Amino acid sequence: MNVKELDEKYVANTYKRFPVEIVSGKGASLIDEAGKKYVDMGAGIAVNTFGMADDEWIGAVTAQLAKFQHTSNLYYTEPCAKLAKMLCERTGMKKVFFSNSGAEANECAIKAAREYGITTKGEEYYNIITLENSFHGRTMATLSATGQAVFHEHFGPMLAGFIHTTANDCEALEKAVEENKVCAIMFECVQGEGGVMPLTKEFVAKISELAKKYDLVTIADEVQTGNGRTGMLYAYMNFDIVPDIVSTAKGLAAGLPMGATLFGEKTADIYKPGMHGSTFGGNPVCAAGAVNVISRLTDDFLSEVSAKAKYIKNALEGAKGIKTVSGMGLMIGLETEKEAAQVVAEAMERGVLLLTAKKKVRLLPPLSITFEELEKAVEVIKEVCA
Ligand SMILES: *Cc1c(COP(=O)(O)O)cnc(C)c1O
Repeated sequence: MNVKELDEKYVANTYKRFPVEIVSGKGASLIDEAGKKYVDMGAGIAVNTFGMADDEWIGAVTAQLAKFQHTSNLYYTEPCAKLAKMLCERTGMKKVFFSNSGAEANECAIKAAREYGITTKGEEYYNIITLENSFHGRTMATLSATGQAVFHEHFGPMLAGFIHTTANDCEALEKAVEENKVCAIMFECVQGEGGVMPLTKEFVAKISELAKKYDLVTIADEVQTGNGRTGMLYAYMNFDIVPDIVSTAKGLAAGLPMGATLFGEKTADIYKPGMHGSTFGGNPVCAAGAVNVISRLTDDFLSEVSAKAKYIKNALEGAKGIKTVSGMGLMIGLETEKEAAQVVAEAMERGVLLLTAKKKVRLLPPLSITFEELEKAVEVIKEVCA
C-alpha cells in the first residue's frame, strides 16, 4: 500500500486531507510525492514560523537534542527557564506555564480564571464569557468555550460555565457581564477559524474596561495570532490593552509542539505546586526551538511581516472575484465570489497551497516567506479568483 492507502486504512478518520503527500521542503517551498513544487501559504496552520527546515532553527533544536531530550518537571532545565524569561521580558507578563498545544494553554488559562473567581468572589463565580464564532480548542473545556455550535454536536453535554456573546457588540457584552456571575472574558483579537475576523478597538477596550470594573480576568487566546503573526509579537499589542492571561501555541516553537500560558501581575500567583502540570510541558527540545523563534522576532523582522502583509492586501484588495480582504498582518481572510474550496483546489493545481476558514480563503504563510514567493502566490490567487 502507498502512504495514502495506509493512512486511509489506519489513521482515524478525523481529517479530510487534500490528495497531496508532502515529502520535503525549504522555507515556504514544499515538494510533494510526485516532485511537484508548491508555495506554502498555510505554514502548517500558522505553525512553521520560518517555514520548512530552517537552518538556524534546526541548529538550535538539534544542539539541545544532542544534550538531552527530556527530563521531567521535577528538575530545572535551561531552555525552559530561558524561554520563560524571554517571554516575560518581551510582554511584561510575570510567569509562564508550558504545555504542548493551544488547547492545553487554554485549559490552563480556564482553570486559573476559575480559581481567581472562586477565591476572590465565591463558589458561583466560575462563568467565563467567550465570543460567538470563536475557536479555543478540541478538549471538552476548550470545546465548551468555543462559540460555534457545529463543533459541539455529538459531544454533549458541554462543560458548564461558558457564556457566548456576540463579537464586537459592546452592549451585549456588558449585559452578559452584569447578568451572570463571571470570572473572566476570553477572546481572540482576530478570530482565526471563525473567518479571520478582527475585533474592533472599541470592543477590545470595552473588554478591558469591564474587566477593571468587575475585577475579571481577561484571557487573550493568541494561539493563532501570537508569535509575530500580526506584525506584533502578540496581537493584543495592536490594541491598547494588557491582558491578565495570554495563551499561545502554534508558531511558538516553529513546528514543535509547545503551548504557553502567560500570567500578568493579577494572575501570576494563582497556581501553587500540585494544582496544574504537564509531563511534556516545557520540553527542552521544544523550548530550545521556541527560544530561537522568540529571539528572531525582532522589531526589524516584525516590520518585514507588516510589509509583506501590506503587499498582499494591496495586491488583492479590489481584485476581480475578491469581495473583501480581512485580517491583521500575515493572517488574512479573503471573501471570494467562487466557493473557497474551489479557489483552494484550483490554486493547488497551480502550485499554491491555501487554507479556508468558514466560507473564506485563509492565508497564513510562514513569516519568513520571500517577496518572490509572495508574488507567485498572489498572481495565482488573482488568476483563480477572477
Ligand atoms: C488552533 C487554535 C487552538 C487550538 O490549538 P491546538 O494546538 O490545536 O490545541 C486554540 N485557539 C485558537 C485561537 C486556535 O487558532
